[in-house]
Amino acid sequence: MEIHCYAAMKEKARLKEFTYEPMPLAPFDIDIEITHCGVCHSDIHLIDNDWQLSEYPLVPGHEIVGTVTDVGVGVMAFEKGERVGVGWQSGACYHCDYCMRGDHNLCPDIKATCMGNYGGFADMIRTDSRFAFAIPEQIESENAAPLLCGGITVYNPLRSFDVEPHMKVGVIGIGGLGHLALQFARAFGCKVTAFSTSPDKEDEARNLGAHYFIPLTEKGALEKAAGTLNFIISTVHVDMDWPAVLNVLKPKGKLCLVGAVANPLVIPAFSLILQQKSVVGSPIGGRMAMREMFQLAARHGIKAQTEAVPMTDVNTAVDRTRQGKARYRMVLKN
Ligand code: NAP
Ligand code: ZN
Repeated sequence: MEIHCYAAMKEKARLKEFTYEPMPLAPFDIDIEITHCGVCHSDIHLIDNDWQLSEYPLVPGHEIVGTVTDVGVGVMAFEKGERVGVGWQSGACYHCDYCMRGDHNLCPDIKATCMGNYGGFADMIRTDSRFAFAIPEQIESENAAPLLCGGITVYNPLRSFDVEPHMKVGVIGIGGLGHLALQFARAFGCKVTAFSTSPDKEDEARNLGAHYFIPLTEKGALEKAAGTLNFIISTVHVDMDWPAVLNVLKPKGKLCLVGAVANPLVIPAFSLILQQKSVVGSPIGGRMAMREMFQLAARHGIKAQTEAVPMTDVNTAVDRTRQGKARYRMVLKN
């Protein structure tokens, strides 16, 4: 069997057609005929080797939706013809303390769908069924694909850091992750503030769930919001005035980084000490969190706003994502 996909052959290169033979179908593997794959900014970081971890040929793609076409002998959860999704994680050891607790996303032996493996910018993928998820029928595949990485990454910290309905939540960066964070935080019952460098996103941010919109282009915008929020999710991959961001938190507030900022954060100790604030991070989410996230999304009508293009236009989708032009997630369609 030959899988047809798109690969970067070297750092920052345009993607080109590429084919490969998958490994033999293992007992827990499934084959998925891919119908949709979202373009996450992590795909751009991988293509550009921003994390100095990329290996080429690199086939990006970890927001995959498609149809099961084959199942290994050990697969009980899925049958041929079912619609499933696969996100960033494609494997774990299943026996460490973290896996045993259900925190598979914290497994030291985590495997990634498109790092060290060929990902979803492809017509098919052979992957571990234990990291494939059924998708509620209410959500169209195009709108569901970005939930598999973008959605779970912003849902998980709301859950694991105990965000409660009475709280005030901020979202910095209204892109692929951020536009989903607004929707999830609103569904949690919180008062939601969007922080954005793009003032033209205000109306859409409010429609997505923001009660307040703060344009970061305005001088003193963060200062005006001082002491107002309990929890902030930062989705940006660029430097911010982190002490000013911490100053937006109320006592005991948390700043949660999900965006992969390249530079170290410079934070004065007293900006944390005096009001018992903390800076935390969060990687994707576990398997149960993924299931919960889809249930919540189906119940509250949460879905990604997408711009779909044919898989053959993969470089257009990559460029639009790299340039921050996507509103709000590019999705490749076969
Ligand atoms: P995206 O769609 O490109 O959105 C990023 C947003 O950052 C932009 O829409 C923009 O929002 C804001 N931004 C502020 N300053 C910017 C600048 N100078 N250049 C570009 N954007 C700027 O990216 P994404 O897919 O949401 O991913 C965001 C980050 O999360 C990436 O670093 C990605 O690798 C990371 N990520 C982490 C996890 C995890 O497990 N923790 C999972 C997935 C992705 P405004 O226009 O509103 O300012
Ligand atoms: Zn991602």
